[in-house]
Amino acid sequence: MDEHQPYREAPESSRAAERARAAADGPFAECVLCREPTEYPESVKGAPLCPVCEWREAERTACSG
Ligand SMILES: [Zn+2]
Repeated sequence: MDEHQPYREAPESSRAAERARAAADGPFAECVLCREPTEYPESVKGAPLCPVCEWREAERTACSG
């Protein structure tokens, strides 16, 4: 008998997943660099970037500084 079962309930993560699913409903703006859907709504102002490109841009600006 193994009574010491490591149980890891993560209600927070499941709730976040639920929220992410709800957010995935709306039409998203396309990334201006790779045309992947971003996490911004279509009505976003400026040039939306997907998380990947956003990360790359951030790294590039960090390097060029
Ligand atoms: Zn992109």
